[in-house]
Amino acid sequence: MSVTPHGIHHVTAIAGDPQRNVDFYTKVFGLRLVKQTVNFDAPHIWHLYYGDEHGSPASILTFFPWPGVTPGREGSGLTTATSFSVPATSLGFWSKHLAGLNIDWSWGKDSSGHDLIEVRDYDGMRLQLVGTVGDIRSGWDGVSNIPADHAVRGLHSVELSQIQIDPTAGMLQNLLGMSLSSESSGKANFQMAEGASGTKVEVLGGVGDRGLQAGGTVHHVAFRAPDLTTMELWQQELMNRGVAVTEIKDRQYFKSIYFREPGGVLFEIATDDPGFETDEPLLELGKKLKLPPWLEPSRDQIQQSLTEISV
Ligand code: ZN
Repeated sequence: MSVTPHGIHHVTAIAGDPQRNVDFYTKVFGLRLVKQTVNFDAPHIWHLYYGDEHGSPASILTFFPWPGVTPGREGSGLTTATSFSVPATSLGFWSKHLAGLNIDWSWGKDSSGHDLIEVRDYDGMRLQLVGTVGDIRSGWDGVSNIPADHAVRGLHSVELSQIQIDPTAGMLQNLLGMSLSSESSGKANFQMAEGASGTKVEVLGGVGDRGLQAGGTVHHVAFRAPDLTTMELWQQELMNRGVAVTEIKDRQYFKSIYFREPGGVLFEIATDDPGFETDEPLLELGKKLKLPPWLEPSRDQIQQSLTEISV
């Protein structure tokens, strides 16, 4: 198929305590909590969505916080870094901001030679703030100690760790139409939608130890379908290739299909529409528990099973 996703739609990960998760992503990273809902497949678990003001595709990081979850382990078959874009001139601000909150961080460089700050959240999840030039997206300016000029702009890239690069590379290129942009020291870098932001996938090869998906690790990466018709074409193409793919699921804020790439990472394809303003107005996003119509009758029971959070 020659159609390519418009970029990364969201990344979903597993956390422990929900309040610590809220505190890190709102106060440390300055993202907006755009939706408080539950895991539709396990409604006793929170599903928290963070992003820019609107929760735009390619700005979204979501979590299933699960108090007391076993810590995971990075390794092959997992997404091992989730990177966000900040203005290159803001890295100094971020280094001081993190140090001021007593959060360990270190300098690094991405595959294009951009400076970046590497940091881990309270569950040990590996994150990067990549200093970029020309990312025209505006960040969330609702956090008093993070001026809008320095705010996180949205997702930049993800890193997948694999024993072998080729099988994963084959799916990224042949099914998802990504192009190989560079290759160096055991890493192959792929690009979707040239020129846009949040469009890079890096595949690190030679990772022998299998990862353990649990607390502090990524659950899946979702890519943006241009429209529902294209998503149906991808679904059909996956079936033609003998890859197990789910039916189209209604995730309330987008429609989705899920499948595994050959190295074991769970992929999702998600539509941009209808987005997070479908069930609450922009100013109210993320302030209270929202449930899809089919879970609304169980609201009391669901609410009792969730650990309370304050935003
Ligand atoms: Zn998802």
